[in-house]
Amino acid sequence: MMKCIIENPTCDGYGQIKINRDTYEFCPCTDIHKAYEIYRQSGASKHLMFFPSQLQFNPNILTEHNGLIPFHELISTHNNSLAHMIKKRWHLILISDMGYGKTQYACTLLLLAAYQKYKSVFLDMRFIRDWLNDKTKKAQMEKQLSEADIIVIDDLGVENYTDFNLNNVINNIDAIIRDHTGLLIVTSNCKIADMKTAYPNGRITSALLKGDRKIYAFLEQSIRHQPTDEKIKQIP
Ligand SMILES: [Zn+2]
Repeated sequence: MMKCIIENPTCDGYGQIKINRDTYEFCPCTDIHKAYEIYRQSGASKHLMFFPSQLQFNPNILTEHNGLIPFHELISTHNNSLAHMIKKRWHLILISDMGYGKTQYACTLLLLAAYQKYKSVFLDMRFIRDWLNDKTKKAQMEKQLSEADIIVIDDLGVENYTDFNLNNVINNIDAIIRDHTGLLIVTSNCKIADMKTAYPNGRITSALLKGDRKIYAFLEQSIRHQPTDEKIKQIP
């Protein structure tokens, strides 16, 4: 028998609570199952599919005005402002030198958004490249993008400049940013200034900085992927 994710003993594990022979009630875990389903449709990593309560760490994040705000506090604020940020087409720009904190942040926010039934699309550079090379995916992807409340572009700025396809990739990212009618979340290892040199014609940077945006820097490198194999911690 499947175990209920919120460990409700009366739940059958699939979200039904038997009241009597013909009557069932829904367990609150059905909303979580639904959120997982919407999250998976976005294309975001299932290894980062965590609600805030499942994340042990709480590093400080630097705001544009040099304030520090703990991860959990910021994500809760963003979660409560989703409807507004989607409607007003905000850009959230998450930058850091290394570590996975910003991508985890974006994924956890997508999961919270999925819990509120918002649709999203998670894109990384490799995905955009594959998608451009496979014309059969184009129509489906464009439909998914046009229906998305939230689009995440992960790891912007890691492109290989010698790639003959770079111009095509830039044109597409630029179009995605400009056409999107909801919340845009971008993660990058580049600082904004570096992004200006990464994209020499400045189009992507100016598209990103246009309109209402917030920039956050993930400072601490204390965030690591949860190892899937516990033994990884036992061997030096
Ligand atoms: Zn349940």
